[in-house]
Amino acid sequence: MKLEILKHFEDIGERFLLDISELDGTDTKVAGIYCLFAPTELVRAAGAIPVSLCGKREKPIADAEETLPPNLCPLIKSSYGYAVTNTCPFFAESDFLIGETTCDGKKKMYEFLGRIKPLHLMHLPYSTTEPHAISFWRDEILRLGRFLEESTGQKIDRDHLRFQIRIHNRIRKLLERIARFQAAEHAPLSGLTMMTVMESKSFFVYPEKYLDMLGEFIAEMESVAASGFSPFEPDAPRVLLTGCPLGKGSEKVLRIIEESGGAVVCMENCTGVKGLDLLVDEEEKDPFLALARRYLQIPCSCTTPNIGRINLLDRLISQYRIDAVVDLTWHCCHTYNIESRVVGDFVEGREVPFLHVETNYSTSDVEQLRTRIEAFLEMAGCRSNVRFANSRLN
Ligand code: SF4
Ligand code: SF4
Repeated sequence: MKLEILKHFEDIGERFLLDISELDGTDTKVAGIYCLFAPTELVRAAGAIPVSLCGKREKPIADAEETLPPNLCPLIKSSYGYAVTNTCPFFAESDFLIGETTCDGKKKMYEFLGRIKPLHLMHLPYSTTEPHAISFWRDEILRLGRFLEESTGQKIDRDHLRFQIRIHNRIRKLLERIARFQAAEHAPLSGLTMMTVMESKSFFVYPEKYLDMLGEFIAEMESVAASGFSPFEPDAPRVLLTGCPLGKGSEKVLRIIEESGGAVVCMENCTGVKGLDLLVDEEEKDPFLALARRYLQIPCSCTTPNIGRINLLDRLISQYRIDAVVDLTWHCCHTYNIESRVVGDFVEGREVPFLHVETNYSTSDVEQLRTRIEAFLEMAGCRSNVRFANSRLN
């Protein structure tokens, strides 16, 4: 079933560039961002428009490797490759960049990016639970605010910031509602389609129009869900994909899972539902403190400990009635790679089959991955049928 409105999500990048081109000649600035930790409400409160510049394709990696070491995560190399070759239209439109000290590779890559465009680096505390972490991160948010004010020439008004906080909370709520359609027994969208819908969150100029688009999509999805339609076979194992972010151009593992008969009904990563349940407190008198509290709860492997990821997985496995978990690590991503053991122990402790795959953006290992994933899904499918039979007997 092809929904008409999906076209708007597929074309959202082009729409973004068109809307931006109409602002040519105005003072509006574009802020290139690379991470879920970038407080987009603050960017918009300063009158700038945030856009994601995360590299998802292999093409620019060879150029990046002229500067960066080859044994580095493909996401970092792809992001830098686009910048150094100036082949990404979103990078070209960006007036300045915002980075955070997340993983070592990214934070050192930002030193090179800063040679190409003005870059503001936010210092992220590695522990997000220590009491001093909140005040430190709040100070970093204030420091970003000053950078934004200087870059845009626009003062950040607290009431406007509160308005942006409310809008972004509404966006997160609607996106979470959309994701939750997949929790139904008959998930109405493929994981690949849901990925396209979720990626749209990083490419809109006008938040109110984006809210309307999400609202329309929900209305259409309600009738699809009521019809019982699903693109998956009824006995397809329900898969949760976790780990490193992926997207259009780096969807290899997601695609293989679905081509092998799995139903990816939930993605826990930054492209998926990570952070959608974390809202900024609209009642907090100090909006900067409210932002600091919300953003520090993002369960990323770059923080330690990262108990929030386990709590989120625990909830998602139940909500989406997950039969199998696949954990994706990009080559040389040490934080997700090491954390995979923690995640695997937890998932297997819940008696859910777990598979860890490590790969990069190339297609050289597709058949090897396919063999592993097919075998894993076959085993997971058998286990889920046994569980289903047992639950009917009880
Ligand atoms: S995985 Fe962590 S570092 Fe990467 S985009 Fe997400 S929050 Fe940022
Ligand atoms: S995938 Fe891992 S190594 Fe790559 S940018 Fe994200 S946290 Fe860093």
